[in-house]
Amino acid sequence: MTHHYDLLLIGAGHAHLGVLRRWALVERPPGRIALLSAGPVAWYSGMLPGLLAGRHSAADCQVELQSLCRAAKVELIVSAVEGLSAAQQHVQLSDGGTLNASWLSLNVGAQVSAPSQRGEAMHVLAVKPFAEFIDGWQHWQSAPQPLAILGGGAAGVELALAIAGRVPQLALFSAGHLLDGLSAGLRLRALGHLHQRGVWVREDCPISGIEEDRLFSGDAPVWRGQRLLLASGAKAFAWPAHSGLGCDERGFVLIAPTLQSYTHPTIFAVGDCASLPGALKSGVYAVRQGPILAANLNAALRGLPLKRYRPQRQSLALLATGDGGALLDWHGYSAGGQLFGRWKDYLDRRFIQRHRL
Ligand SMILES: Cc1cc2nc3c(=O)[nH]c(=O)nc-3n(C[C@H](O)[C@H](O)[C@H](O)COP(=O)(O)OP(=O)(O)OC[C@H]3O[C@@H](n4cnc5c(N)ncnc54)[C@H](O)[C@@H]3O)c2cc1C
Repeated sequence: MTHHYDLLLIGAGHAHLGVLRRWALVERPPGRIALLSAGPVAWYSGMLPGLLAGRHSAADCQVELQSLCRAAKVELIVSAVEGLSAAQQHVQLSDGGTLNASWLSLNVGAQVSAPSQRGEAMHVLAVKPFAEFIDGWQHWQSAPQPLAILGGGAAGVELALAIAGRVPQLALFSAGHLLDGLSAGLRLRALGHLHQRGVWVREDCPISGIEEDRLFSGDAPVWRGQRLLLASGAKAFAWPAHSGLGCDERGFVLIAPTLQSYTHPTIFAVGDCASLPGALKSGVYAVRQGPILAANLNAALRGLPLKRYRPQRQSLALLATGDGGALLDWHGYSAGGQLFGRWKDYLDRRFIQRHRL
């Protein structure tokens, strides 16, 4: 039997958490509404490096969804979406169930891209989904071994600084320059921290494949070991592109400034799973989309005009250095130290606290 909803929120991403919080505090739109989430909690990625560094507990980094949904008067369905028909607004769940809805909103994030692999000598652990990653990491930590991290963006650098000293040898591979897109000053500060902590950094070294226990960049073997942690770029899930939704060449849902799909305006998409010029794949952009999405879903269900979202031109970057400190990047200006670490902790904890209703 297919259950019908007026609105289905798919994925407990940053923007949907903001929507639920708003609806818990002020009036929610009318109708039958549910949140579909792959798990009973939402993990906050900003605190993950602190969890690995032993500075946060797992519970510190999670928002429990049942109480948030109850406060927002929204049903919680814990099940992963496996497929979607955009034309019929029909959702296929991993447990075999099916749902349909008059309006849909996607905030499912992205997966981590992985190089091709031949042989099974190298154990590969992707940083997402977070629950699986934490389990895998705890297992690895019961017998630490040399390890390589793929990904020279903010996530890769933060993870390297969080686990340096917890594994016998650590290598960090970046396809281009480390922290590409952020200021040169931040890159130099990050390189200084990584060097100090004994992390071997290889920049401009795109990894093209894994063969048995070796990493290859083009034809050249560049690292040998048995553990690889993937923190490389965002890769779209396959099902949105197969749903009939208009997607960009990488499979991310093309959206208009109202956050609606260009091809199917009764479907909204936000955060990493969506594609809009100027909106970067980062939590801070997804968070900023939350209030506009809440207002637009409300307006859509009531037949009112929608607002337009304009991505911020600059965003603050705070990178944890694994020792309680953080590096800051703002408008090309960089700085670092314990004070920024305390500020980052405050902002992270405040995010979690705001969604614990
Ligand atoms: C280690 C690390 C640290 C980071 N630190 C920062 C930071 O400090 N600041 C920052 O701005 N960004 C940071 N990022 C990037 C950030 O995590 C992402 O850009 C951000 O999470 C994207 O938010 P989102 O709302 O699109 O989706 P997400 O936060 O990824 O949430 C997606 C949700 O959808 C659920 N989901 C996925 N598939 C399905 C499905 N099929 N069915 C149902 N539910 C599903 C997932 O379980 C998850 O709850 C970091 C990333 C990593 C890996």
